[in-house]
Amino acid sequence: MLSPIPLSRIQDRIQTGSMSLVQLTQDYLNNIKGQASLNTFLEVYEQEALDKALQVEQKIQEGKAGRLAGLVLGVKDVFSYQGHPLQCASKILSDFQAQYTATSLQRLLDEDAIVLGRQNCDEFAMGSANQNSAFGPVKNPHKPAHAPGGSSGGSAAAVAADQCQASLGSDTGGSVRQPAAYCGVIGLKPSYGRISRYGLTAYASSFDTVGILSQHLEDAARMLSVMAGADSQDATCSLKSVPPYEQFAAPPGPYKIAYFQDTFDHEGLDPQIRQGFLEVLKGLERQGNTVEAISFQHLAYILPVYYILTMAEASSNLARYDGVRYGFRGSVENSESGANNLEAMYKHTRSQGFGKEVIRRILLGTFILSADYYEAYYLQAQKVRRMIAKQTQEILQRHDFILSPTAPSVAPLLDQSKQDPLQEYLNDIYTVHANLCGLPAISLPMPPKDTSLPWGIQATAGAFEEDNLLTFSKYILDKV
Ligand code: GLN
Repeated sequence: MLSPIPLSRIQDRIQTGSMSLVQLTQDYLNNIKGQASLNTFLEVYEQEALDKALQVEQKIQEGKAGRLAGLVLGVKDVFSYQGHPLQCASKILSDFQAQYTATSLQRLLDEDAIVLGRQNCDEFAMGSANQNSAFGPVKNPHKPAHAPGGSSGGSAAAVAADQCQASLGSDTGGSVRQPAAYCGVIGLKPSYGRISRYGLTAYASSFDTVGILSQHLEDAARMLSVMAGADSQDATCSLKSVPPYEQFAAPPGPYKIAYFQDTFDHEGLDPQIRQGFLEVLKGLERQGNTVEAISFQHLAYILPVYYILTMAEASSNLARYDGVRYGFRGSVENSESGANNLEAMYKHTRSQGFGKEVIRRILLGTFILSADYYEAYYLQAQKVRRMIAKQTQEILQRHDFILSPTAPSVAPLLDQSKQDPLQEYLNDIYTVHANLCGLPAISLPMPPKDTSLPWGIQATAGAFEEDNLLTFSKYILDKV
């Protein structure tokens, strides 16, 4: 399903006149229309995209085009794009228009990327199956009865279905990597602070990262080079210089790779994925790399700590949606009490505007932060987060990368993924670790085994070692 050529080759073809960017954009638009039942895009900016394609095409021919000229992009509905609607797939932001453009997106636009539209996702990026959208679920293009993963489900499915070349997503606990694995595309989550979060709607601010979903590794690397780097609008954004990631210039192996024995033995891990993972490990060893099984003392705490802290942060971040400042205002007519005062208005707005999962997290997060439980949950979880980060850092001082499957199973059936929330949280077992520690991680697509659904292998590197991670990823995709 992958589009056969990366951006660099598209640019060559447009320059020599053997490919038209307007036609390419039109082809993607046709694919979106022809596969409308996948429900990947919430809104398509058709005319705008075609007009920009024409402009960029001229710039390419005049030799004045930006580094991303020819890139046709979808954007998850959590990024501000001035003058365009922003809804986070939620009713509570109905009719809201973004007032400014996210730094990440602006940098892509400045280098001549073309935006096709905004993409469906889990409401406020909370979920692992794209079942929590106010606009209905997204379907997996490989098998439409299956979920695409989440929360960037629309973004991953659109890339896999050739509706765009790449998508801009967000990853707080796996939302780029897990849907990438389920849909068979590349999903890159950079280090915390590598790309500015300005204009990315906050879910859990100490975990949120801008991420990339693409068909080709080199396109992800190039997009990272364009977006990364300091931003005066985001004080948590790093001042570190940005290497030309797309050159894959980091030293080649042999590599020292660690994997967690407990992860491998985990009863929830699909036996076929275990087998596929084992084959990759063996392949790496055969080629002279060192592969070591290690035990990770704090493994059992990774998921609880993630959910305690993200729910706490979410309850605080989402307090701003009160019916006064943005989008939707709840109507008292629909309420049982018919109350008519400010507090009732807040209550009706929030209970009518948010979906079930978002409400669950706000309630749990508020409980976690409440005076009586703050120390027992929030503070305790912060301490354990620190311990997890420390042990992980020690591992990454001795090894170049930690390898694992991206998710314990292939994409579940849409109905199955609607099961109880705890079951859904368990899907995130392998991905949340990188966010707890602020580390870069990538999901690389692996070919389907018996199920005809793809799966993903995840590599995690030390903080700000995206260059090593990308060079290693290229090595795995080309040679292992
Ligand atoms: N599934 C995880 C959650 O619901 C991750 C979400 C994300 O990365 N945005 O919190």
